[in-house]
Amino acid sequence: MQGFFTALGEKPFRARQVMQWIHQRGVTDFQQMTDLSKALRNRLEQTAEVRLPEVSVDQQSSDGTRKWLLHVDGVDNAIECVMIPEDNRMTLCVSSQVGCTLNCSFCSTAKQGFNRNLSTAEIIGQVYLAHHALLADGYEQGVTNVVMMGMGEPLLNYDAVMSALNIMCDDFAYGLSKRRVTISTAGVVPAIERLDQSTDVSLAVSLHAPNDELRNQLVPINKKYPIKQLLDACKTYVQGHGRRRITFEYVMLEGINDSLDHARQLVKLLSGVPSKLNLIPFNPFPHTEYRCSDKATIDRFRDYVNQRGIVTVTRKTRGDDIDAACGQLVGKVRDRSRRSLKHQISINNLTGQMNAAN
Ligand code: SAH
Repeated sequence: MQGFFTALGEKPFRARQVMQWIHQRGVTDFQQMTDLSKALRNRLEQTAEVRLPEVSVDQQSSDGTRKWLLHVDGVDNAIECVMIPEDNRMTLCVSSQVGCTLNCSFCSTAKQGFNRNLSTAEIIGQVYLAHHALLADGYEQGVTNVVMMGMGEPLLNYDAVMSALNIMCDDFAYGLSKRRVTISTAGVVPAIERLDQSTDVSLAVSLHAPNDELRNQLVPINKKYPIKQLLDACKTYVQGHGRRRITFEYVMLEGINDSLDHARQLVKLLSGVPSKLNLIPFNPFPHTEYRCSDKATIDRFRDYVNQRGIVTVTRKTRGDDIDAACGQLVGKVRDRSRRSLKHQISINNLTGQMNAAN
């Protein structure tokens, strides 16, 4: 932004003023930016635009969770973004891609295929919309936490995500502390290694299985970057940062990864990594073959790991009545990977078989 103003022959500090107008005051009309000269306002109007993602659907869950469906290419593609209110926090779950390339077997975004990366503007636009919607509703703080846990794999859209994170943390924009911003990854190891040089936001890793054989099935990127490489990169990321811990996410799938033996393997695996464990009850979606583990099994798993010194919590399922829970974000993806087509064919086959059986 400073470069942009310098190129216009203006002082670099104009960048701060405009950042504050846009992100803090929610003003997108250059003519209303009254501490800029009239000539500069006109110039900006001719050379730039502030464009927000277009809200297609704005839904509120009975538990207060709010979900926006945002169009990003006319009506062709849409992404989802979810606000989760909790005590005195307002956590926003932000998308980084239209669809996803990673194809995790238990995730509904995966079934939709992939179209493209989001731009920095489209990522920060989600924060803008949610933040100013909250302010308009009388919440003084607006967004307090951001988790990059919406649609897509943030580390496969590295540069745009880093720029958006910088704006989230910038004092002239949203001023979030690094500890309140979390990147979640399925395990793109080279990008985790690079992350250490770019930022020190919190890192969450979608582990979901305690051994390579099982993880290969659930999170196929594991075939490329197996668990040992992933955990080595995690250890490096926390090194030299006293309080930093990795949050490992672990979806609870009935009969698949939820036994005490899995818990035992997990404790052993994580013994050398400063970690927290988040158990996520599986959120079902149409045509999935998985089921969520029952509460007793989840509690048993949690207690086993907790008792062995790894802080473990079960994530509360939020917003499931409006399909806003983890892994239920589907937006609208004009698939270019043809994966959604394959999924559709397998659903049709399944329905065909069921009809035949009837
Ligand atoms: N690609 C990143 C960001 C997505 S975050 C990542 O994998 O971390 C979304 C989180 O929800 C991930 O931990 C993901 O594995 C989990 N998830 C996906 N589908 C789910 C489902 N159906 N039920 C519960 N959690 C799910």
